[in-house]
Amino acid sequence: MMSSPQAAIEYVMTHQTHYLQKLIEFLRIPSVGTSPAHRADMERAAQWLASFMEYIGLHSVQLISTDLHPVVYGAWGPEDPETPTLLVYGHYDVQPADPEEQWHTPPFEPTIQDGKIYARGASDDKGQLLAHLIAAEAYLRTSGKLPINLKFFIEGQEECGSTGLEDIIQQHRALLTCDAVAISDDGFWDATTPKITIGTRGLVYFEVDIRGPRHDLHSGTYGGAVHNPLQVAAEMIAQLHDAQGRVAIPGFYEHVQPLSAEERYELERIPFDEERFLHEEIGAPALWLGELGYSLRERITARPTLEIHGIRGGFVAEGQKTVIPAEATIKLSMRLVPDQDPLEIAHLFEEHIRRIAPPTVRVSVRLLSHAYPALIDRHAPAIQAAVEAYHLGFGTRPVFLRTGGTLPVVADFMRILQVPVVMMGFGLPDDNLHAPNEKLSLAQFFGGIRTAIHFMECLAQQLSSL
Ligand SMILES: [Zn+2]
Repeated sequence: MMSSPQAAIEYVMTHQTHYLQKLIEFLRIPSVGTSPAHRADMERAAQWLASFMEYIGLHSVQLISTDLHPVVYGAWGPEDPETPTLLVYGHYDVQPADPEEQWHTPPFEPTIQDGKIYARGASDDKGQLLAHLIAAEAYLRTSGKLPINLKFFIEGQEECGSTGLEDIIQQHRALLTCDAVAISDDGFWDATTPKITIGTRGLVYFEVDIRGPRHDLHSGTYGGAVHNPLQVAAEMIAQLHDAQGRVAIPGFYEHVQPLSAEERYELERIPFDEERFLHEEIGAPALWLGELGYSLRERITARPTLEIHGIRGGFVAEGQKTVIPAEATIKLSMRLVPDQDPLEIAHLFEEHIRRIAPPTVRVSVRLLSHAYPALIDRHAPAIQAAVEAYHLGFGTRPVFLRTGGTLPVVADFMRILQVPVVMMGFGLPDDNLHAPNEKLSLAQFFGGIRTAIHFMECLAQQLSSL
């Protein structure tokens, strides 16, 4: 007799055309969340998902309203406390398609060519989230039940920065109770190697205002008497890093978790072409050495950083004007890593600025936004279940990597629901996310469905044996 995952996979393989049709239907809806002109399309996409959830036999299907586009929720399972529960997160909103003239096929008329489906949202994130829904359907059609309890939480504001999502998760904590969260919203490390993202960086973003004289002054009359706010800005910026490339804010590194020997060793084994990175991606004459004692990949993903984004003030138009500006503004941010607390770092930064600000100016600091970093234990049973599922679904074991970017939703799920988040993507690095000609390879789509089927089974085994 066939095992349940095998039967489900057989079912998917004999119904490939049907599932492709479903994907095409979903991709046809131009659910551009950032555009008011697509409001009705956003509603259609949410309704389409809700009906698909009902059609495959989920219960409690509902639209959870937010300030803008609703979250679509659906669940399967009796919530037997003995059976582990997985929450799948995804998003049905897509990036705008422009510049549309650069698409080889219309962005909202899904087109299959050379084993790939081209459409906006194919990889980010409709194809990937659908893989989990189809896995559930095939399992239910063949076995009548799932090996785990399953919940879907599909939002519509990811491309708008998931504003307000933290509050929604907080308010619906009881509904969202689970043992692990799965997110399939990124891709493989390379064409054949899956990747599990185990870390994201946090963020604090500031605006610093420096005010000197009451109004702009003439340098011929006042030069030599006034501490120019732009010069103060430069002097203060120069005190934000030390000679070793470290962030010079006292206490900044106090709660940074050191990189484990295991993680450093594994990172070194994953090939990384620094020459290509410098010449093709960056194009600067040379790389900055950054924080001494850390490899390039450690610096861009696992260590905290501080960047200046802009300095505003004075005269920058054509020609010349001998002005001493009355004020200057600096915009800067820091990427944070566990266990740095963004609000504590904000406080340390303000103290540091107060300490280094000269008495010749008035300085004010404004925190514009903050997000928490996250790090998932690679030995967590849910992560091990994903490793196993990739092995069964794609025949390859994944590598573990952190991203240098910030995904607030990951930290929100971890902090509010107190569970690990498994970031297991099925896309490929050349899927053209947020760019013209976005695509998803059909092999990745069906491999993703197989992996999602095995993941449920592996998760049931891993978590029940605890
Ligand atoms: Zn996405």
